[in-house]
Amino acid sequence: MRADLPTPVILDPRFKALIVGHAKLEHLGTGYRWSEGPAYFPAGRYLIWSDIPNNRMMRFDETDGSVSVFRHPSNNSNGNTVDAQGRLVTCEHLTRRVTRTEHNGSVTVLADRFEGKRFNSPNDVVVKSDGSIWFSDPTYGIDSDYEGIRAEPEIDGSYVYRLDPATGALTLVIPDRVKPNGLAFSPDERILYVADTGNTHVPGLPATIHAYPVAANGQTLGAPTHFATCPEGHFDGFRLDREGNIWTSGGRSVLCYAPDGTHIGTIPVGEIVGNVCFGGIRKNRLFICGQTSLYSLYVKTNGA
Ligand code: MG
Repeated sequence: MRADLPTPVILDPRFKALIVGHAKLEHLGTGYRWSEGPAYFPAGRYLIWSDIPNNRMMRFDETDGSVSVFRHPSNNSNGNTVDAQGRLVTCEHLTRRVTRTEHNGSVTVLADRFEGKRFNSPNDVVVKSDGSIWFSDPTYGIDSDYEGIRAEPEIDGSYVYRLDPATGALTLVIPDRVKPNGLAFSPDERILYVADTGNTHVPGLPATIHAYPVAANGQTLGAPTHFATCPEGHFDGFRLDREGNIWTSGGRSVLCYAPDGTHIGTIPVGEIVGNVCFGGIRKNRLFICGQTSLYSLYVKTNGA
């Protein structure tokens, strides 16, 4: 395991308050082709994530530090999250669908098409407190045979959808991004933040996070405002802490943004970062999916 890991860079006093002074970035496992979609299960004290090109999901056991294969084949799974009942919700590239793994281990397909057309390749997913499931659907899983199977899109764009699993109702909630990717709600669920990684397809397009106000009905979104532009590479996936700070991948680092959009700190990782999530039973351990490795850093805040 790497012992030469860099330490966080404090750009603003607000970040210093979030960092444990002597806590080190920890290198927990390696040997993956492209890691994304970390999701922490407090009941079992383990982290699940996706190694997309290797068509497998991995599990880090926090009780003994071991890493093992959780699911193979995984249908080139990407984003994962945990719903309010503690069930795993997964985006799958190969099968172009969103699934839920039930407590008995069976897999339920929640959605695989919109208005009769297959999704592109669901990428990232969050569950709101009302049980609704919000997910992005860019084309990375059908652009080539590396993270799925190459195919022509059936839908005329890359959108974000809201699914009500109780009724099966599926609505298109974000039509105005190029390649919507990571997404997460603010702690009070009044804002949905969405990353756009469209610079992978449109040269010169800024890599951004936009903030969409959630309507009073909790189900639709208002006009977005620009939140941040990535200084290197793009934002892929992110999570918020209890104070509403955004901890996001950004090139070869994790970047922290205050709710006002100020970049307040950087955690250099040394390889491209895909996604992050808060874990540990107190949600004060930031898990980081680097391209080839899993890392963590204990912090002085807690996941939202
Ligand atoms: Mg992603």
